[in-house]
Amino acid sequence: MRVLVLGAGQLARMMSLAGAPLNLSITAFDVASGKIVHPLTQAHIGDGLENAIAQADVVTAEFEHIPQDVLEVCEKSGKFLPGMQAILTGGDRRIEKALLDKAQVKNAKYHVIKNKADFESAIETVGVPMVLKTALGGYDGKGQWRLKEQADVDSIWSEMEECLADTKQAIVAEEFVPFNREVSLVGARNAKGEVAVYPLAENVHTDGVLSLSTPINDIELQEKAKQMFTAVAETMDYVGVLAIEFFDVNGELLVNEIAPRVHNSGHWTQQGAETCQFENHLRAVCGLPLGSTKLVRPTCMINILGEDTLPEELLKLEGCHIHWYGKDKRAGRKMGHINVSAEYTAELDRKLALLADVLDNKAFPAMQRFN
Ligand code: AMP
Repeated sequence: MRVLVLGAGQLARMMSLAGAPLNLSITAFDVASGKIVHPLTQAHIGDGLENAIAQADVVTAEFEHIPQDVLEVCEKSGKFLPGMQAILTGGDRRIEKALLDKAQVKNAKYHVIKNKADFESAIETVGVPMVLKTALGGYDGKGQWRLKEQADVDSIWSEMEECLADTKQAIVAEEFVPFNREVSLVGARNAKGEVAVYPLAENVHTDGVLSLSTPINDIELQEKAKQMFTAVAETMDYVGVLAIEFFDVNGELLVNEIAPRVHNSGHWTQQGAETCQFENHLRAVCGLPLGSTKLVRPTCMINILGEDTLPEELLKLEGCHIHWYGKDKRAGRKMGHINVSAEYTAELDRKLALLADVLDNKAFPAMQRFN
């Protein structure tokens, strides 16, 4: 089968690698340039969305900030999974919050702001401290403000007002959640409504960007997360891999956000799970049976941010796998990731301590916890 991916970044690249053994051939559509490209080499192989769709059996996406006209063309083709509404939901925090309420899954109390009067109501209903997030276009902690005390209202409002000059934009005010940790659940749902989820992963962020992701073994929390995942996926009649990010507050889960696609916190599945998230996404959208999501060995994923070289000796470390994305170096950019696996948890900890010694502390600040 031929699968067209909207977006030509690392997620399309890893889908291509995962699809090859099943004879699933992936092409990527660069939404910004309108070019059809090879997802591994970035070679230009054609032009135009209609043309790209005509040559594909299935259309899917690797990101959610896609112009509506592009989504409409894909939707009309009848080949698009998880489909326009799911992508719009992931790309607009207003729609996302409405979905979470409809699915009756717990999420942070919120209020939508379009003007100063709304901001004042938000302060009353949500309370201070609060987190303010642009409804459109925000990711990796960008487009956010923290209102810590009443005295900061005017200065934050002047920045928000500038943002709201775009009439399509809105700001979602959220109560500040005093979480113990952040976890995410990545899973797949197929057209028959079958659901397979991976173990919950605990995520560490550095300056708003994911730096470490490690599957955890917590049966109770896993069950709660799975129920919430199933409620959200069923409410959307979702087909494909879906990621849900949660705040863990003393064992209670609140949904932070959803991503209607394969997700950075699921990259550990390439070495740590029976079937990786990229293969399972392709299986789901191509109407194939889902693969086992079982953890096969303790694994930790370390993001490579803003670096394009690593000490060669890493390749000698048993269970250490480097995945480069073939991108030009830029400060803070996701350039690749390292998956480290071991037979048992204590051995994984030992390997992570070794890696923390070898990796540059400034480039991998999150690794200091393993020293
Ligand atoms: P987001 O882009 O919504 O994932 O937010 C980026 C990061 O900001 C999250 O990973 C959290 O660490 C933090 N954050 C987001 N929303 C809240 C909230 N309501 N309360 C506390 N921290 C938050």
